[in-house]
Amino acid sequence: MSSVKMADAPPGYEGPGFFATSLDKVIGLARSHSLWPLPFATSCCGIEFMATMGAHYDISRFGAERPSFSPRQSDVLLVMGTIAKKMAPVVKQVYLQMAEPRWVIAVGACASSGGIFDTYSVLQGIDRVIPVDVYVPGCPPRPEQILDGLMQVQELAKNESLRRRNSEEYRALLESYNIL
Ligand code: SF4
Repeated sequence: MSSVKMADAPPGYEGPGFFATSLDKVIGLARSHSLWPLPFATSCCGIEFMATMGAHYDISRFGAERPSFSPRQSDVLLVMGTIAKKMAPVVKQVYLQMAEPRWVIAVGACASSGGIFDTYSVLQGIDRVIPVDVYVPGCPPRPEQILDGLMQVQELAKNESLRRRNSEEYRALLESYNIL
């Protein structure tokens, strides 16, 4: 980005990157308060998400009241419930169809680690197939915990540089999942 030259500029407000950093903050703030969730619910944890969407817990306070069942119009994938190994390619396909920037929350013990289902047919955590940004513990987690997970994604969205998605670190992460 362009270099900014100011005679009496305070430290950190002069030189390459000043403009991009400010734009990062504005876009990050807007993004963090308009996340569109994609609920991928396969079992009981999905019921807790329904409560989270209701008037009492009121997810719309966080600007996330608009669930999208189209991956292309979603920002944050919430995987809730037991994921059978046969379902794993579907989870990955949904993730691949989401546009950048995208975030993933593993809601509950089953999505995070397989939970109590330590068996041949159950994926032992969705991070075996896609990168996960936030893990929400519990069997099931309460709606407050799901909201806490969403707030953690808001922080990630606020602080994420526009450049991060092209960074070597992020590309290496995707390559480790055979996604690039
Ligand atoms: Fe059901 Fe518990 Fe698994 Fe959630 S973590 S899907 S509540 S068994």
